[in-house]
Amino acid sequence: MTQADLGRWGGRRYYSLDCCLRETFGEKVYKITLNGGMSCPNRDGHIGTGGCIFCSAKGSGDFAGNAALSVTEQLAEGKKALLAKRPVHSYIAYFQAFTNTYAPVSYLEKIFTEAIQDPDVRALSIATRPDCLGSDVLELLERLNRIKPVWVELGLQTIHEETARFIRRGYSLDVFDRAVADLRRLGITVIVHVILFLPGETEDRMLETVDYLNSRDIQGIKLQLLHVLEGTDLAGIYRDHPFHTPDMEEYIRILGRCIARLRPDIAVHRLTGDGPKDLLIAPLWTGAKRTVLNRLNQYLKENDLWQGKEYYG
Ligand code: SF4
Repeated sequence: MTQADLGRWGGRRYYSLDCCLRETFGEKVYKITLNGGMSCPNRDGHIGTGGCIFCSAKGSGDFAGNAALSVTEQLAEGKKALLAKRPVHSYIAYFQAFTNTYAPVSYLEKIFTEAIQDPDVRALSIATRPDCLGSDVLELLERLNRIKPVWVELGLQTIHEETARFIRRGYSLDVFDRAVADLRRLGITVIVHVILFLPGETEDRMLETVDYLNSRDIQGIKLQLLHVLEGTDLAGIYRDHPFHTPDMEEYIRILGRCIARLRPDIAVHRLTGDGPKDLLIAPLWTGAKRTVLNRLNQYLKENDLWQGKEYYG
């Protein structure tokens, strides 16, 4: 790592989302989480009924906007909340709750267009499943991407099929690979969600997921620790057969290894969990997000680690 990298990464030892946004848009851009009122095929019976075992009642969109409001109204609410804390004027419209391409394409076009028509919205970010990207959806995303940048966030969680079956992800790895290839052919930015410390996953298995993603054409990653949330099937499993959840030091050590293994051009969008504190059963220490990030930075420095250090062998 050179002084230039450190400077480019704003003094951090990894290529953060913050840094990526400044490079892309020339300024800090803030996400407004939206709710398009969609469901998920892994919940409505199309693929499954129970959903992924860790998924909360709000479809992993616990901080998303109110689906009863229009996209324009949700954006206005999001801006108001952000402006109360700091003077900001650039946003990413982030459709977070449930599966945000699981609806007729005419509806998707309506809500996504409404979002990007806002002059303060710089990019559109859409969280979805790789098996919900049919040709009509891809064609829409390609058109929108010509107007404003479109990011698609894919919930992969792990490359290991055994774990994927356990968490009831509902699709196989080749479906993910196909979706990445389709999106990249259209020039759409791909961000992948990975969950660390899924039950049964060893350190080697977690690193194998990072290695695999290094070999794919992805632009961003969200690394997050498994959260056991009240009301999920995972909570029942945890109560009946408590499985290992790491303490902060163990998590930081594995996270540090994942970062060191990660290709240095992949932007790191998330490094901790993001569950609502009132539903969090374990690990409870993750609520102190700032402390976790500070400890990570300290750990990387102490051990002279940085993103990509181990990628180059
Ligand atoms: S695909 Fe997403 S919304 Fe659907 S059950 Fe899994 S985590 Fe929840």
